[in-house]
Amino acid sequence: MTEFDPAAAGAVTPAVDSAVAPVSLFAALGLHESLVQAVESAGYTQPTPVQTKAIPEALSGADLMVSSATGSGKTAAFLLPSLQRLVVANVRPAAGSGPRILVLTPTRELSMQVTRACDTYGRTLRWLRTASVVGGVPYGAQLRAVRAPLDVLVATPGRLLDLLNGGRLSLSNVEVLVLDEADRMLDMGFIEDIQAIAAATPSARQTLLFSATLDGTVARLAADLMRDPKRLEFASHRDNQEHITQTLHWADHRTHKDRLLDRLLADPTIDQAIVFTSTQRDAERLSEKLEADGHSVAALHGGMPQGVRTRTLTGLRQGRLRVLVATDVAARGIDVPTISHVINYGLPIAAEDYVHRIGRTGRAGRTGIAVTLAEHGEIRKIRTIERFTDQRIPVATIEGLEPTQRAAPHGAGRPGNGPRRGPPGAHGGARFDGARRDGAGAPRTFQRKTGTR
Ligand code: AMP
Repeated sequence: MTEFDPAAAGAVTPAVDSAVAPVSLFAALGLHESLVQAVESAGYTQPTPVQTKAIPEALSGADLMVSSATGSGKTAAFLLPSLQRLVVANVRPAAGSGPRILVLTPTRELSMQVTRACDTYGRTLRWLRTASVVGGVPYGAQLRAVRAPLDVLVATPGRLLDLLNGGRLSLSNVEVLVLDEADRMLDMGFIEDIQAIAAATPSARQTLLFSATLDGTVARLAADLMRDPKRLEFASHRDNQEHITQTLHWADHRTHKDRLLDRLLADPTIDQAIVFTSTQRDAERLSEKLEADGHSVAALHGGMPQGVRTRTLTGLRQGRLRVLVATDVAARGIDVPTISHVINYGLPIAAEDYVHRIGRTGRAGRTGIAVTLAEHGEIRKIRTIERFTDQRIPVATIEGLEPTQRAAPHGAGRPGNGPRRGPPGAHGGARFDGARRDGAGAPRTFQRKTGTR
């Protein structure tokens, strides 16, 4: 594993006069001492490129549209300047007055991750009150949390709108609205919910939008909701996966795939692995099989009660689980730096989910391994992924488990001689037509959905 090196990743190092006391690189961005202390005690020594650019702009009060890859440090890029507002204003909220910072995320898992990040970045602010409002859990505790004094609210749009429409929550004091993974929220059909939520906040608010892509529907949403936003663009997923070693193993049939998986999981260099399946049923089946084989394993998918999902993620984070078998619902929300391997046992339904899946490894500057298992009949799906990422996935074999069918020739299943060039959003893999909510949604690109995820 390599250490995170923001400088190598292109971070701008502010000029510091070595004759005077060293200035923290976070303080040089304009951050308040208490927040600098919090990030430094989280172990960060240098801001990432997205933090270097976005934090000063956000502190200036500008609306921002930021394209940044998964794992780039974007959460701190929007939370730190937002928390700074609260530090500077130094006013404690009254009970029931609603949040001053509102963060919308597409999935429950991401909401929980952002809430945890808020605890980390706000750890020196003893007065800070953060709550999370997500679907799939009982209303009681969430209602109590939004009635109490509240600084930051992290929410998925569906549940938040329920509370808003039921008159349970006021958004009239929101100063900063953050749309995290805006492209994903739009893909999941949240456009009207987001518009209704934004309309309930003051128009003088600051809006910070983070998204893998800033084009198409995201640009239209921004035009609706933002005032003269600044665009900050960082390396796209295509440029940003060099630290993840990707390989592809062709399998003759499912039994062959199971044998390949057994062999891969026997690798002692695996700290923790996520094995992705295409359906909930497969996740359950595979997790049971792996458990019977002696692995410390659990399943995670959108059909499970939220309490079980949360316990499973805690087990993963605390290292009690070595293998998680998950559907794409887990792809965007998991930030566990010790995940060394991602194995695609079932291919993702949308090509861009491939990028989010493999982004679960190689977090925070580490390296990672992503292995994809595909049956020969799935060559078109593989080519669609390769066009989307603009990279060929190198084919590998395991001794004694080589496929008996001839390896698929390069170029099969797609017109032309190489990956298509062009912006990520222009590729077929970015298209979705599913519109389900709170992470249980199933965007479809390759085919109609045959099972639930
Ligand atoms: P994010 O893109 O916000 O999900 O962050 C990805 C990972 O990078 C998380 O584990 C963060 O804790 C970590 N991280 C964020 N900022 C920094 C930084 N400046 N230095 C080191 N790690 C960071």
